[in-house]
Order: sequence, then structure tokens, then C-alpha cells
Amino acid sequence: MARNAIVVGAGIAGLATARALAVQGYSVKVFERNGIASGASVRNFGMIWPVGQPDGVAYETAMRSRRIWESLCRDAGIWFETCGSLHLAYHEDEWQVLQELKGAYPERPLRLLTNGEVNKISVNAVSEGLLGGLYSDTEMIVDPRDAIAKIPGYLTSKYAVEFHWNEPVTAISLPDVTTSKGTYATQEVFVCSGVDFETLYPEHYAAAPITRCKLQMMQLSAQEARMGPALCGGLSLGHYKSFEAAPSLGKLKNRYDLEYPEYKKYGIHVMVSQNQSGQFTIGDSHEYGPHPDPFDKAGINKLILNYLGTFAGFHNATVMESWHGIYPKLTNGESWLLMRPAPGVTVVNGFGGAGMTLAFGMADRLID
Ligand SMILES: Cc1cc2nc3c(=O)[nH]c(=O)nc-3n(C[C@H](O)[C@H](O)[C@H](O)COP(=O)(O)OP(=O)(O)OC[C@H]3O[C@@H](n4cnc5c(N)ncnc54)[C@H](O)[C@@H]3O)c2cc1C
Repeated sequence: MARNAIVVGAGIAGLATARALAVQGYSVKVFERNGIASGASVRNFGMIWPVGQPDGVAYETAMRSRRIWESLCRDAGIWFETCGSLHLAYHEDEWQVLQELKGAYPERPLRLLTNGEVNKISVNAVSEGLLGGLYSDTEMIVDPRDAIAKIPGYLTSKYAVEFHWNEPVTAISLPDVTTSKGTYATQEVFVCSGVDFETLYPEHYAAAPITRCKLQMMQLSAQEARMGPALCGGLSLGHYKSFEAAPSLGKLKNRYDLEYPEYKKYGIHVMVSQNQSGQFTIGDSHEYGPHPDPFDKAGINKLILNYLGTFAGFHNATVMESWHGIYPKLTNGESWLLMRPAPGVTVVNGFGGAGMTLAFGMADRLID
């Protein structure tokens, strides 16, 4: 008889875990509190971003995720773009960091590009004052709203995964899992409940090195032409762990701290991806703490747009939407959180700003 498992939450962590279990022959039920997943997994850039992961398990997991994303999207008919990423340098110290990164990761498909070469692959990169860019071939973009909505249907048709929408899990005492609508018997449970630390195993969350991070995002109106690689300005160099491999990064960050105190205060760095409809997703800020306030700050959006203008140009673009997302963030520097609060129960959480990049690979490793 097939082993069975229940997954709590239909964000990317829950979907990735459900997929990995189903691939291993489990009979899987997924319970999602809402009628559609509407947490961090639909509020992000859709960037599958191995370039931001340091060498070792994190990078290998990101690359494993990327392979799964690509084959799943092809199989399920979900839009994606293997566009790569481009970090741009307008100051000597940024260019220095990009050159050091190219040297630090000789095994990765990275290329240093001149101003002219950047212009050939990016219609939106600002060319004035551009010293060069670091192109990475490994990044791909999905449209998170589209992908997260379609993956459940795909998992149901391919692996008979059963989805229960509008049905929060309220208690787990194996073999029983209690929801708002009834009790289900199962052998294993995987709790992928994102920023809800209060409903299931609150005492374990209270003891875990985890907090919350609130991020503000915007969407700009569509452009017909594809933008090419997803774009990042210099501030992003201070954001991802992999970039710490550059010896002169510390000096660059000191300059940013002096020149951009407001950006430091709100943890702002600026990136842009283009979705399947041609719209641009831009962000973001990072405000950490256990109780993020529910109100978005117009000043943060202005800072993001101002910095965006230093490296990317969008003809006649207007802001169509703004929103914020919240993700759980580990405070111990780890890439994800696995807890086993009871026999047969595993909590999968804490991907920080890289859940889209890491979840598929991590779940595959876990269930393997
Ligand atoms: C603005 C922003 C930009 C980001 N950009 C990127 C990016 O470009 N690339 C990248 O790799 N990562 C990015 N991230 C990070 C990524 O989005 C997250 O790491 C990831 O979405 C977390 O997924 P999750 O499934 O753990 O959480 P969620 O997406 O929040 O899903 C958790 C789900 O569990 C459900 N749930 C909770 N409790 C229960 C319960 N008791 N019963 C039933 N259901 C329950 C919730 O309703 C929710 O749908 C970004 C995040 C944000 C906020």
C-alpha cells in the first residue's frame, strides 16, 4: 500500500514538498487555509536565482531547484524565461567587486561584459556612465502568480495529489490531523505554513532562531520588448551571501552606508524582472522584526524608483500595483529551517528571500 502524507500550506514550500513526496510514490493531501495561496510565494519577483547562493549545499540546492522548475514548467505548460541575470556597475568600486566575483567563482557560467556588450543583451540597462556588468547564465524567471496557481492542477493530474482549499489545519496528533472541516488519518505530516508561527507548534517557533521580514514591491506597466536578463544595481551586491566572496565588498558597503543612509535604514536594494505579460516587477525593502506593520510607506517606494532610474530605464512606465510580502527569516544565517516537533512531523520553513530558488531542490533532498 502507498505510504501517505499530509502537507500543510500550498505556497512554494508546500508545493515542492508535495511534489517530492508524490515522485517518491506517496499518496499526498495538501491543506491550504485560503482559497488560493496568497502568501510570499505569489508576492515575489519570480526569480530563480542561483547566483545569490554561496558555493556548497546552497548553490547545489538552487541548481537542483532550477532543473526541477524548468522541467516542471515545460511539462505543465507554465511560462518561464531562462534569461539569466545582469549586475551593473557605474562606479569603480562596483566594477572591482564584479571582477572579483568572476574570479571567485571560476566554475560558474559568469561573464564580465563591457558597456557595449550590455547594450546588446539588455534594452533597459542605462548605458550612460556604465563601466560594465556581470552576466550570469543560471537565473530563470517565472511569473509567481501564474506558476503558484497552476502547479496544484499539474500535481493533481500527474500524481493525483489531493488539494483541500479553504481548510486550515488546526491540530496535529498523529495519526490524526484536524482541520476546520474534519479529521484525517496519515503517517507523516509536513508543515509548510510560512509566516504563521502561531497555529501549529508555536512553542517550537518561539524557541527557533526565526523572525519576520516585510518587503515592499511594485509592478510597472508592460513593455512589448523583452528586457533580456533580470537587472540589478550595485546595492544588490550587499544583499546576497554569494557576493561576500569579493574581498572589496566591505569597502563598497561602507560607501553605500554613507551615501545611502535611507536605503540602509529600510534594507533597500533594487532588482527588476519582467513577467510573461511584459510588466516589470521591482523591489524591494527589508524591514525585520516579529510584528511587521500592515502599512506600506510611500517613501520606500520612492527610494526604490529613484535608485531603479540609476541603472534601468523604462519608457513611459507607470506604477500599476504596489504591495508588500512577508517571509520568515532565520537569524542564524542558515538557508532553511527543518524542525521535527513530534514523531512523523517535519516543519519546512525559513527560506528567507530565496524560497522560490531553494524549495524544490531542498524538498527533493529531504524526501530522497
Ligand atoms: C516581496 C518578496 C520577494 C521575493 N522574491 C523572491 C525571489 O525572487 N526569488 C526567491 O527565490 N524568493 C523570493 N522571495 C522569497 C519567497 O517568496 C519565499 O521564501 C517563499 O515564497 C516562502 O514560501 P512558503 O511556502 O514557505 O510560504 P508562503 O508562500 O507564505 O506559503 C505558506 C502557506 O501556508 C498556508 N498556511 C499557513 N498556515 C496554515 C494552516 N495552519 N493550515 C493550512 N494552510 C496554512 C498559508 O495560507 C500560505 O498559503 C521573496 C519574498 C517576498 C515576500
